[in-house]
Amino acid sequence: MRLYNTLTRQQEEFAPADARTVRMYACGLTVYARGHIGNFRTFVCVDVLRRALKYAFGWQVHEVMNFTDVDDRTIAGAEKAGQPLREYTDQFIEAYRDDARALGLESVEDNPRATDEDNLRAMADMIKALDQRGHTYRSDGSIYFKISTLPGYGGLSRIDQSGIMAGARVDSDNYTKEDARDFVLWKATKPGEPTWDFGTGPGRPGWHIECSAMALRLLGQPPIDIHAGGVDLIFPHHENEIAQAEGATGKPFVRFWFHVEHLLVDDQKMSKSLGNTYTVPDLAARGYRPSAVRYLLMSGHYRKQLNFTFASLVQAEESLRRLTDFLARLGTVSGGDAHPEMAARVEEAATAFKNALADDLNTAAALAALFDLVRAVNSAIDAGDLSAPDAKVVSDCFARADQVLGVIGLRQQEEATPPVPASEIEELIDARQAARRRRDFSEADRIRQDLAGRGILLEDSASGTRWKRK
Ligand code: AMP
Ligand code: ZN
Repeated sequence: MRLYNTLTRQQEEFAPADARTVRMYACGLTVYARGHIGNFRTFVCVDVLRRALKYAFGWQVHEVMNFTDVDDRTIAGAEKAGQPLREYTDQFIEAYRDDARALGLESVEDNPRATDEDNLRAMADMIKALDQRGHTYRSDGSIYFKISTLPGYGGLSRIDQSGIMAGARVDSDNYTKEDARDFVLWKATKPGEPTWDFGTGPGRPGWHIECSAMALRLLGQPPIDIHAGGVDLIFPHHENEIAQAEGATGKPFVRFWFHVEHLLVDDQKMSKSLGNTYTVPDLAARGYRPSAVRYLLMSGHYRKQLNFTFASLVQAEESLRRLTDFLARLGTVSGGDAHPEMAARVEEAATAFKNALADDLNTAAALAALFDLVRAVNSAIDAGDLSAPDAKVVSDCFARADQVLGVIGLRQQEEATPPVPASEIEELIDARQAARRRRDFSEADRIRQDLAGRGILLEDSASGTRWKRK
């Protein structure tokens, strides 16, 4: 598989260093608010990467995705809400888990919270190692990373070294490239802020040290294979993660940096600070199902910006429906003998699908390969040329593809829990049939309309009545 590596700014052949297990870390949600679908664009793309590594390329994956539950934003939020930090962040972790489940994200091997004691200890230990190797200094009780001690500093974001203000410091977690300075590793206690002491003096971690320490605590010796996040994290967060991990260990931190482009709204990044966000429940309240949201978020290439509009969500819904209607149609094919040409056509589609994924996770091309197959098979069904064994080969191909896409099964799960219980729908279909048999068409119509009003559509065909969600 070829992956674009932000470190080298080019596509490179990827395989895990030990040829077996991909050790990857993804920066998770800062839990000061419910994650919006911009955050979830990154999480969905990382989920598709994870699934492709496992199901298309056959590697094992050990993935760590953290919760940033202590930083400037979470502390400010908890203070404003008048809640203890842990209690304040708990609610957003819960909400993340609900949304992640709804969007079909596979659960990952580790979801560490920065404020878990083991993690705080690992951060303190990394700071002590940095101290021993001469990369730190103290000022007013805080500990800083001295970037002039690491000649390679800035290599990921390719900052202009001449712009770096030698000796100047920055205390906030986030800042721009123009403000590249010595950054804070451990912040001195402030009144009202949570504080810990694991041998580096009382205080709390800076945001950047959290990820370096948790990644190496849970994944082991550097370099890890892949580190993922949105493009906004390249500087300063990932640059500083590299400085900390490499400064502390003397070894390269990460082999491949995987960065997902932004979800935009009206050409601006979807972000809390701009007030242009939508969450999964916001969209559900407007009648858009999480499966359609997942489809939209993964249907474009991850390195291209994606502009969010309701029209694009409707289009995603239609595309997804074309796939599920097609699979339902396949289910109606019966009898006949296997056609070797059809097996060959399916093999061709499966190869095109895998090749697209191998080409820097080109999900758009992978989906196109599936839709080509849909067209070819539909024509065969129209011509009466598709047998039940052929249909099985085709549906198996879609099932394998969906291990990576994770969207058709998600839709089927949603369908299995429709807004009206399936048993009630079946009873109403029977009652409607009975009404029609006794020529009570107004009762039959009333039943149809009752279900339509509750989001269930009935479709009559020669073989009987099927229902589907609106
Ligand atoms: P945060 O909660 O701000 O730490 O962000 C969590 C993840 O979401 C990070 O990987 C960010 O880069 C990513 N992210 C934030 N906003 C967007 C966006 N509009 N589009 C894509 N990814 C985003
Ligand atoms: Zn991080």
